[in-house]
Parts: sequence; C-alpha cells; structure tokens
Amino acid sequence: MTDVTYATLFSEELLQLFPDSNRGTIESLIVNDDNPFIDVERIVKEIDNLKIEPEVGRHSGELMPDDENGYVILFNEVDSSERQRFTIAHELGHYLFLRRDHQLDSLLKKSKYRNYDVGDYSYQERKEEITANNFAADLLMPVNLIQRLTLDWIKYENDGQTTVDESGFDKYVEILAGKLRVSRQAFDIRMKVLGVAK
Ligand SMILES: [Zn+2]
Repeated sequence: MTDVTYATLFSEELLQLFPDSNRGTIESLIVNDDNPFIDVERIVKEIDNLKIEPEVGRHSGELMPDDENGYVILFNEVDSSERQRFTIAHELGHYLFLRRDHQLDSLLKKSKYRNYDVGDYSYQERKEEITANNFAADLLMPVNLIQRLTLDWIKYENDGQTTVDESGFDKYVEILAGKLRVSRQAFDIRMKVLGVAK
C-alpha cells in the first residue's frame, strides 16, 4: 500500500465534523505500509482547543473543559494501547458532535463519570454513546482502509486466495486488527457491522 491520505479514507460526512481551520491538515495525513493505522492522537493534536492527557482512574475516558478555555480528553493509562486509542476516538466523537451542535457548554454542567457502562445512562445519553462508538469505529477502521489492507493480505499472506477457513479467518482478524492498532474484539464487531462476518 503506497501513501493514502485520510481525505481518501474518510467519508465526506466524517470529514465535515472537523473544524474548518483544521480539516485540511487532517485530510493530508497519510497511511502507508509502515504506518497502516489511523493516528488518532495526531488528529486530536491538530484540532484547536483540544488536547489529550493520561490519567489513572476507574473509567476509561472522559471529555472535560480544561483550564485554558479549551477541552481535554482524558484516557486511562492503565488500559491497553488499543483500548486507549478507541477511548480517545470515542471522546473525540463526543467533542465533534457537541461542537457541531453548539453544545460544548453542556460539559461545564456535567460532573459525573463518563464511561462505557451503558446501563447507568438515560435514553439520550445512550444514543450519544452509540453515536460516539460508531464514530470511533468509522475513524479507526475506515471501510476503504480495511479493503486496501484486505487486498494486500490476499496477495501477500493468503497466496492470492480470496477465501479462508475458520482458522484462516481468525488469523486474518489478528493481522488486520494488529495493523489497524485496534483490539481483535473491536475489529470483530466491525466485521459483523459491515456484514463480512456472522
Ligand atoms: Zn462516551
């Protein structure tokens, strides 16, 4: 896989969520054979008024106002790096949707833990959680990128064959999840959502 820009990988709908002043830079970031994963930390760094900080806590992540009129994504530094990346992408989703809907101020009123324990959430909050999870999956596992990595996998790792048995499929999931730097579980769910696996 030669250099492919994020502009090619992401849908127009997703790209439109980024602030106008930062979108061009984010669109010009690339994946290639050496770095075939979406650099979510880099994306966050390119966004004005948003930063990332590690913390040790009971929950996996949180989006909060910071001291300098901006916002901060906290992630749990005890989690695996795949989990951290998913958390950062999830919280980035919250930020971008709140920003789009002019609702960032609502974060000032919130003081409770934000985590993945959907059980404690209201209907509206559950909807926001699902939206943020879908955003994170679209960001870290773009269909276009999965297709490119799959074509390379067929060519270089599956002897040009487009079919696999069950253990071959497990291996495929492991390899692609590794390249995308997501958990096998997250990639498995993505495959099911995309209708590739049952
Ligand atoms: Zn959330």
